Amino acid sequence: MVFKRCPNCGGPLQRFRALDAGEKAHVRKEKRAFPPEAYIRCTRPGCRRYQRRFAWDDGGDFPDE
Ligand SMILES: [Zn+2]
Repeated sequence: MVFKRCPNCGGPLQRFRALDAGEKAHVRKEKRAFPPEAYIRCTRPGCRRYQRRFAWDDGGDFPDE
């Protein structure tokens, strides 16, 4: 678990976690320059943001489940 800036949530740093298998599959299709392991997900309820661990502006939103 790491704390990062989340552009969706704003405010203080948010908790991010590693992606699960389904999330990695999504990111693998969306982001080709880096492996999905390079990305983490915001854990705040309702937020669907993922972003690269060391580049908060390289990310996106998971589609609604
Ligand atoms: Zn967030």
